[in-house]
Amino acid sequence: MKPPLSLLNPSMLSGSGSLMWFRKGLRVHDNPALEYASRGSTCVYPLFVIDPHYMVLDPNAYSPGSTRAGINRIRFLLESLADLDSSLKKLGSRLLVLKGEPSEVLIRCLNEWDVRKLCFEYDTDPYYQALDDKAKNYASAAGIEVFSPVSHTIFDPADIIEKNGGRPPLSYQSFLKLAGEPSFSLSVELSWMPPVGDVGRCEILQVPTLKELGYVEKHQDEFTPFRGGESEALRRLRESLSDKEWVANFEKPKGDPSAYIKPATTVLSPYLKFGCLSSRYFYQCLKDVYKNVKRHTSPPVSLVGQLLWREFFYTVAFGTPNFDEMKGNKICKQIPWNDDDKLLAAWREARTGYPWIDAIMVQLRKWGWMHHLARHSVACFLTRGDLFVHWEKGRDIFERLLIDSDWAINNGNWLWLSCSSFFYQV
Ligand SMILES: Cc1cc2nc3c(=O)[nH]c(=O)nc-3n(C[C@H](O)[C@H](O)[C@H](O)COP(=O)(O)OP(=O)(O)OC[C@H]3O[C@@H](n4cnc5c(N)ncnc54)[C@H](O)[C@@H]3O)c2cc1C
Repeated sequence: MKPPLSLLNPSMLSGSGSLMWFRKGLRVHDNPALEYASRGSTCVYPLFVIDPHYMVLDPNAYSPGSTRAGINRIRFLLESLADLDSSLKKLGSRLLVLKGEPSEVLIRCLNEWDVRKLCFEYDTDPYYQALDDKAKNYASAAGIEVFSPVSHTIFDPADIIEKNGGRPPLSYQSFLKLAGEPSFSLSVELSWMPPVGDVGRCEILQVPTLKELGYVEKHQDEFTPFRGGESEALRRLRESLSDKEWVANFEKPKGDPSAYIKPATTVLSPYLKFGCLSSRYFYQCLKDVYKNVKRHTSPPVSLVGQLLWREFFYTVAFGTPNFDEMKGNKICKQIPWNDDDKLLAAWREARTGYPWIDAIMVQLRKWGWMHHLARHSVACFLTRGDLFVHWEKGRDIFERLLIDSDWAINNGNWLWLSCSSFFYQV
């Protein structure tokens, strides 16, 4: 068994530096990559690269934000980074923020800094798969060890696919059967970290403000009430778990999608998206609550069941080529959707004339979060229910505006709601 980090003496360390590359996984609790980076290293470089495409104001976008993300998600990310920086400082370290194309910046850092180990959380999204291949190739040619554990999800999607003969399971029940009970152990809690190494000529930034990224006050009318960061994630989690009866009796889709003051579900999705909250820790906390109550609900409707929906979509998305498109996607029905951009704009701008649909689209714009049933309503309305507009167009708008926008879950649910996959009505 490895000794807890708190028991290691810095003077016993072997004389090598590690680079901890944060992307998602913006937390110090249950972070195996951070734990490994800290173990046995004389210094650790905790790096986050700001990709201008993701963060910097695009004045031509249809909503305030960058080319790829709405302002609410950018604000949420900046808050999460500031919170991470403050947690790292409490451990004797800090976040090193650099700006630029992520693979170029990373390679420059690996080149210039004293790095023997490169550590980052494994990511199944196609964007990160391509980025990580570049990073791994560079590191292995330079003789740098790479450690990239699966900790964004409870299960390793590749394991489930392998158990199923190389194909992803296409129903929730078959996923549950294959997955069984998870076997992770949470990583140890850090009580200190090795110091940051010499950064040489690299110009390290503070976590920027929205203003520094080009946003002015008029861009900030859209203001989500949900604050980013690990501290807020853990506070929200504690608050939800404190009502054991509520956790034990949780049953979706029961619950009021128009409960705005106190939403009917946990609103932990944006924290899971950015990894401010570990899904494994969340799962373990729920299991602990279940041990102490007489009866509790079960998947698919229980809270554990919700986390397993997340695992299900991650697994199918990882194992399905062209998962985010209709063309070339073997599990997607080929449907002659219409291409009416006027209908799409009316939906996007809350001008359909249906008060319930328009209210939800206003909530999407203002908060970047809506209850699951509200998402159902507007996705169904845009696609098979009424306007017959292509699900990929609605998906794009959610992808930009949601604070919890998640490649696997968003595409999976749009495929489902448009009756393109998983759930058909002939
Ligand atoms: C069209 C459409 C698009 C969606 N896009 C996203 C998205 O981009 N990102 C996202 O996180 N969720 C998405 N969802 C799923 C779901 O609506 C949200 O996860 C949920 O409403 C988040 O609120 P919560 O954290 O309070 O959920 P809770 O009910 O408290 O559930 C806890 C966690 O379980 C997971 N979860 C819950 N429902 C689902 C589900 N149906 N599929 C997968 N995981 C689930 C989430 O991580 C959630 O935070 C989408 C749903 C629809 C219908």
